[in-house]
Amino acid sequence: MPLDHTKLFALVDSAIEDVVAPNAAAVDKDGAFPEEAIGALAAAGVLGLTVPEEFGGGGGGLDAAAEVVRRIAVACGSTAMIVGMHYSATAMLVEARYETVLREIGAGRHLTTLAFSESGSRSHFWAPLSTARSEGDQVVLDARKSWVTSAHHADGYVWSSRPLAAEGPMTLWYVPRKTPGITVTGAFDGLGLRGNDSCPIVAEGVTIPPTAILGADGAGLDAALGVVLPWFLVVNASASLGLIQAVTAATTAHLVSTHLKHVGQTLAQQLPARARLARMQIEADRNRTLIADAVAAVGAGRAEAPLLVLEAKASADQGSASAADLAMTACGGAAFRREVAVERRFRDSRAAQVMAPTTDALWDFVGRALCGLPLLDPGPDAATGDEAAE
Ligand SMILES: Cc1cc2nc3c(=O)[nH]c(=O)nc-3n(C[C@H](O)[C@H](O)[C@H](O)COP(=O)(O)OP(=O)(O)OC[C@H]3O[C@@H](n4cnc5c(N)ncnc54)[C@H](O)[C@@H]3O)c2cc1C
Repeated sequence: MPLDHTKLFALVDSAIEDVVAPNAAAVDKDGAFPEEAIGALAAAGVLGLTVPEEFGGGGGGLDAAAEVVRRIAVACGSTAMIVGMHYSATAMLVEARYETVLREIGAGRHLTTLAFSESGSRSHFWAPLSTARSEGDQVVLDARKSWVTSAHHADGYVWSSRPLAAEGPMTLWYVPRKTPGITVTGAFDGLGLRGNDSCPIVAEGVTIPPTAILGADGAGLDAALGVVLPWFLVVNASASLGLIQAVTAATTAHLVSTHLKHVGQTLAQQLPARARLARMQIEADRNRTLIADAVAAVGAGRAEAPLLVLEAKASADQGSASAADLAMTACGGAAFRREVAVERRFRDSRAAQVMAPTTDALWDFVGRALCGLPLLDPGPDAATGDEAAE
């Protein structure tokens, strides 16, 4: 049966209104993983949304996922981030038809995420230094992952390593969180997105079956760029859009309801405040339009789709940081305190630009695409076997 978007969004909106939004301030203040919110969203069909119906999921596409993440982000950036990483990792599991886990995700019982970034190659996720080696009939992984959203809470990770035996920069695996040898180190104490539980993971002698491979040995980079990246870029851009819309709404509410009693005017009657608000709204609409076109281009298989998804995240990264900045000034000292719901969004808005591909990397990728160059240079960034032993 085709996905009923109206019904889905109604269920999602109820979960947001009843659980996600009321918990958002405490999630931020305490740096707490939004367990209750993820439970409510799972019950609304959010976790299983993008799993094909044949595996018991909702059969939703990138368009539905992007809209769900945007709606969540209006209320809580941390929760949106967790759901966005779940969709990005699920895309790879769908591609690999990783049935056992897909059935669990489809039933809303399993949370996943990406474990790509590493302490050695940092934001250059395309060049993992972590290793995979055969030992008997098993595979052994060693790694130092630097940032993994939902690290303590995901049931399993879509994981990058150097190849087992093949040529190429990367192989992908599915690694259950409770596999012996996995250690999630520390707790997340960040500037923003404080509930997203993005922590380092050390893997020492982690033994998994060869069937945990996602795709072919050595073909992980093609999958990371061709399958995972479009989902990640679009859901990440959608989270930034939700954030822009949230700060714009909060700023509007503050400007129209706050009075300068000595002159009998509201803040909305002051030109600089209105001009800032207008720039925020333009940022929201510009990014909404670009993301919608990128999603439509992916759906229709248009030739410019890869370029548009890169542009969408680069634009929304900047747009959210700039809109939140404008909101902080438009709302004045009231925004500097927590009394207007702007300060949390301002901190949350700083993350997207440094999430790989970072804005710097995306500008480079877009420029390369325009010049007919490959996204990545073969060679200089690829790890050697010696470095991989790190
Ligand atoms: C909230 C949050 C959640 C995250 N969740 C995940 C996750 O779930 N999974 C995951 O795999 N990763 C995750 N990451 C990691 C993220 O994707 C990046 O890898 C990480 O933020 C990069 O930080 P760094 O200090 O290693 O950056 P660095 O690589 O040290 O870069 C520092 C700065 O230099 C710039 N720079 C670096 N190299 C170049 C270059 N060649 N040209 C131009 N500029 C360059 C970068 O753009 C950046 O601005 C998360 C990050 C954040 C902030």
